[in-house]
Amino acid sequence: MDEFPFYELTRKNIQSLEAYIAKDIPCRIKLDANESPYCPISIDSISSMKEFFLSLNRYPDPEAKELKKLLSKNLNIAPENLLLGNGSDEIICYLITTFGGPILYPSPTFVMYAIASQASGQKHRAIPLDEHFDLDIDKILKTIKKEKPKLIFLSSPNNPTGNCFSTEKILKIIESSKNIVVIDEAYQPFSSKRGFLPLLKDYPNLAILRTFSKIGLAAIRTGFLIGHENLIREVNKVRLPYNIGSLPQAIAIEAIRNKKVISEHIKAIIKERERLFKELSLLEGVKPFPSEANFILFKVKDAENIHKKLIEKGILVRYMGNALKDSLRVTVGTPEENNAFIDSLKDIIDKLKNK
Ligand code: PMP
Repeated sequence: MDEFPFYELTRKNIQSLEAYIAKDIPCRIKLDANESPYCPISIDSISSMKEFFLSLNRYPDPEAKELKKLLSKNLNIAPENLLLGNGSDEIICYLITTFGGPILYPSPTFVMYAIASQASGQKHRAIPLDEHFDLDIDKILKTIKKEKPKLIFLSSPNNPTGNCFSTEKILKIIESSKNIVVIDEAYQPFSSKRGFLPLLKDYPNLAILRTFSKIGLAAIRTGFLIGHENLIREVNKVRLPYNIGSLPQAIAIEAIRNKKVISEHIKAIIKERERLFKELSLLEGVKPFPSEANFILFKVKDAENIHKKLIEKGILVRYMGNALKDSLRVTVGTPEENNAFIDSLKDIIDKLKNK
């Protein structure tokens, strides 16, 4: 029997798309996905857990009212300015479904902007960053004028480069765009810069994305969009019902109640990031880039080979492939994990040198 023509039936824009593969390489030390090495809550501390188990037969609160209430209180905004997603990934898809393309973003940056644009069949444009990994403002402004992108995604701090983009440039983009500018602040908790929350009142076309994933709760898949209530109302039209499960809601609520612990973890990660940066700078042939996030990008000759050799030693980092030549990205782990990574990297580089 002939094979059923699934591929031929697939929409053209999906045919050419490659699935996002989060490679599951089992390793003793996992420093590849920008997760936190710490979890802010323990199973015993989830006070709302009892209620959760008593109502497993029921759908979750579709509006996640309790979580929104707590979050908005903490962010000093109204619940109407908030939309929750199954990870910020889901919100990126919602934004594109709601507003459509063209979609503009710099490059290299977080890959989901491109994947979600292509998956929904929207035109998308990547503008290369300049030599300092900052925005090429002239080119972006020209493109805004010519192509009038409906949505602009700016990850600041940027993944995978780790830097924040210049605030003046971002403001120019917001001011010159009649469209929506989304600042993805997934890594803002680790940054010394102020972030864009205080500017929301001044710019109705500005929206901000945040997530619980980088502060110790990647497993609950919960992210949120903060923006003008009318923007939130439009995006909410495409939100899937019950998109945040009861357990993630309960855990996120408990995490906000434990926000002091989260702050301590963030401080520890920032301290380790600075130490890791210094250690990397001391290694011959390694060039780390300053980071405002919970990871460090570094250049090293023979990056692909070093990546493989680190895996053999039980340490997983991210090889950047064609996106950034000769580059690896390491997530900041615990002091012990970082020491193991540095020692292994040093050993591998020494051995390659003496070959
Ligand atoms: N934005 C950026 C810039 C990221 O790097 C990531 C995760 N790698 C995300 C969003 C996705 O986060 P979430 O887990 O909330 O989907």
